Amino acid sequence: MTFAKRLPAALALLLLVAACGKPGTPPPKGPQPGALPSYQVRTGEVINGSPTLEAARGRGHLVVGAKEDQPYLGEKNPATGEYSGFDIEIARMVGAYLGFGPDRIQFRTIASANRETALSNGQVDYYVGTYTINANRKKLVGFAGPYFVAGQALLVRSGDTAVHGPQDLAGRKVCSAAGSTPYQRIEKDHPEAHLVGYDTYSACVDNLITGQVDAVTTDNAILQGYAAKVPDELKLAGAPFSTEPYGIGTPHDDTVLRLALDDALAAHERNGDWKKAYDATLGLSGVPAPAPPQIDRY
Ligand code: GLU
Repeated sequence: MTFAKRLPAALALLLLVAACGKPGTPPPKGPQPGALPSYQVRTGEVINGSPTLEAARGRGHLVVGAKEDQPYLGEKNPATGEYSGFDIEIARMVGAYLGFGPDRIQFRTIASANRETALSNGQVDYYVGTYTINANRKKLVGFAGPYFVAGQALLVRSGDTAVHGPQDLAGRKVCSAAGSTPYQRIEKDHPEAHLVGYDTYSACVDNLITGQVDAVTTDNAILQGYAAKVPDELKLAGAPFSTEPYGIGTPHDDTVLRLALDDALAAHERNGDWKKAYDATLGLSGVPAPAPPQIDRY
């Protein structure tokens, strides 16, 4: 087994210990899970002219790309194979709008670096996983949304008092996911940092806990989830230093699908599902629901 492959075990153990707590300890403080909304599956109106949806109808289910190791956003239960989190709920609510109930959505884990390829070659019908909309990616894929806005931040060990922002990374080891916008930003704007790339943020967090790296950088929404799971070990340092609008990735030329997903997001924001889903998932990391951002129908 390689070193990198072995690392997530340490995080898993810590999370398990944190989840179980000690006998006699009071229940965890902070937000309690609300009920997840159930989404009305639209059956009356059929969306025509989307090759992606036609293929999905033929196969009987949607295949949706997601993350599986991002607390409160996209997590896969290793025992049951069930996915959960805010991104997963977004995928389910827009799926219902397209006519596919949750039992007709199959999730597939796709790492940050492989999203454009997965969408271009038809491995997934759409992708919901902390996926920043930007001009470079728009050359390769389409984006519905945004449905949430995050910002790049830093995660350090709780005893660390030296790191307050990216300027403090000089000579320090900072880990991020290959192919992500936070990785690219450090590479370009902070060449004095020692940048380490892994496939996943959980591998980075494991390296942070075991002392192999000094910081993890990615979106605050992702880092808040890791910090909330082991608050004695990890904390966010400093303020966010970028804007990361999250979109639903689509195949580049399927404009019908992209605009239908925009309509779907707007409908579920209006009827309260978006906020209910947020409160029951990402809200548990301690940040109250913001207003959903303006959808950009291009
Ligand atoms: N939102 C950033 C991105 O799309 C970082 C999170 C991620 O890698 O999914 O690159």
